Amino acid sequence: MDNIYDLIIIGAGPAGLAASIYASRYGVGHVILGQVLGGQISETHEIDNYPGLENMTGFDFAQKWGAHAQKYGAEIKPVRVDSIMKDGDVFVLALGNGETLRAKAVLLATGTRRRQLALAGEKAFLGHGVSYCATCDGFFYKSKTVAVVGGADSAASAAIYLGNICQKVYLIYRGQELRCEPYWQREIEKNEKIEMILKTNVVEILGGEKLEKVRLDKTYKGKKELMIDGLFIEAGSEPNIDFAKKLELAVNKKGYIQIEKNCATSTEGVWAAGDITDGSDNFRQVITAASEGAIAARSIFHWLKAR
Ligand SMILES: Cc1cc2nc3c(=O)[nH]c(=O)nc-3n(C[C@H](O)[C@H](O)[C@H](O)COP(=O)(O)OP(=O)(O)OC[C@H]3O[C@@H](n4cnc5c(N)ncnc54)[C@H](O)[C@@H]3O)c2cc1C
Repeated sequence: MDNIYDLIIIGAGPAGLAASIYASRYGVGHVILGQVLGGQISETHEIDNYPGLENMTGFDFAQKWGAHAQKYGAEIKPVRVDSIMKDGDVFVLALGNGETLRAKAVLLATGTRRRQLALAGEKAFLGHGVSYCATCDGFFYKSKTVAVVGGADSAASAAIYLGNICQKVYLIYRGQELRCEPYWQREIEKNEKIEMILKTNVVEILGGEKLEKVRLDKTYKGKKELMIDGLFIEAGSEPNIDFAKKLELAVNKKGYIQIEKNCATSTEGVWAAGDITDGSDNFRQVITAASEGAIAARSIFHWLKAR
């Protein structure tokens, strides 16, 4: 069969890059297709919980992992995969640049995307005060007042990051208490610039050309409106699997791909690793994504060898 890769890895985040390093060392010929080198971690201002790599910026982390994969000869194409289908024993991938690639095995490592809240004004003010990435856009709010919506790790870390830049940060969460790591909770409590508004929802985003205020569903300090310059929405994530619909993979209730211990999916020849899966007890971190990537690469190696 001409022009058919043994393996195509879709995703250039921690799962895809770790899989690539292992695949190269197993001698499995492959290409990585991934729009953003490093994946979500490249958006993080600092990663400090990956053993052996302290105080590293997300950007440096991504570059280092990319360089490591390339050291073993991996080809990384910064391209979007639009669709994938099975044709007999071969997978056919349609890319955003018009190319078509074929592979005997595929590894889906496309992670997650930020969930939108569908608030009134959310779309209209996107880029004009509404953001989904504190590390990308925080700088534009230097010495200003912002709010972060959410209560998990990403919301907490965004609030702390913005606390270093902005004059004031409101952390608005619908729950009674944050559900982030205790470490982040302590950092938030120590930070005088961060004010928590709990058991409250943002219901509308208002302004003229730019965002000026948000309307809350409860009164806070005597008012239902909060004057802010920026709103950072950190309301969780959903898996990036739309492009793989035709594979009809088994997914859990939340849409994450169900995997076996070896990261195989319900479709022969397809593996999945990282944030996109229901693996690692749904603990979505760099360390778990990388280990699933490594496990998948090893399993793919044995599968290809047996064929
Ligand atoms: C703000 C923030 C801070 C975080 N901080 C930490 C931390 O301190 N420590 C920690 O361990 N974890 C942290 N995480 C979580 C960590 O980033 C993720 O668990 C990890 O990146 C998951 O890796 P992944 O490879 O599964 O997916 P991702 O990192 O999401 O990578 C997905 C890859 O797939 C590509 N892709 C998606 N769709 C397509 C497509 N259709 N075609 C081609 N390519 C596609 C993307 O461009 C990307 O290259 C943080 C996450 C965020 C958002």
